[in-house]
Amino acid sequence: MSGSCIFCRIVAGDAPARVVAETEDAVAFLDANPLSPGHTLVIPRDHHETLGDLPADEGQAVFSLLHRLVPVVERAVDADATTVAFNNGRAAGQEVHHVHGHVVPRFEDDGLGPIHGLFDSRPRIDRTEMDEIGERIASGFE
Ligand code: 5GP
Ligand code: ZN
Repeated sequence: MSGSCIFCRIVAGDAPARVVAETEDAVAFLDANPLSPGHTLVIPRDHHETLGDLPADEGQAVFSLLHRLVPVVERAVDADATTVAFNNGRAAGQEVHHVHGHVVPRFEDDGLGPIHGLFDSRPRIDRTEMDEIGERIASGFE
């Protein structure tokens, strides 16, 4: 546990939160400043900053809880869909440095589009560079 981490304090019961689901290794609670009604965060109980820091079993626990919770959240607020996303690291806008998945209910008429809307344009990447990038990722995967 990181004493200065608000999400660790929520897990420990030292800070208030609307906890909606708990498993052995993961916890879900309502975002205090929701982007839409039902906006829920899913976190590992233990403090890890990013997905890359998360041990495999805890990653599975987080995904398992996300998987169970998404349809429940959608039903609870009568949503048409959800955006499920991690701001994974400071450069991606992560502000609370305890890894968390956002479950953001979405509605047919919300007019917001996909998360692709974060990007104004797409970079030009030629076929050779695409091949090289693919090979670097494939060779780094164990
Ligand atoms: P991030 O930008 O790090 O991906 O998102 C952090 C999220 O945590 C934000 O949506 C913010 O509203 C939420 N949040 C920050 N502090 C608290 C808190 O003390 N309690 C709860 N329930 N949510 C919080
Ligand atoms: Zn923490």
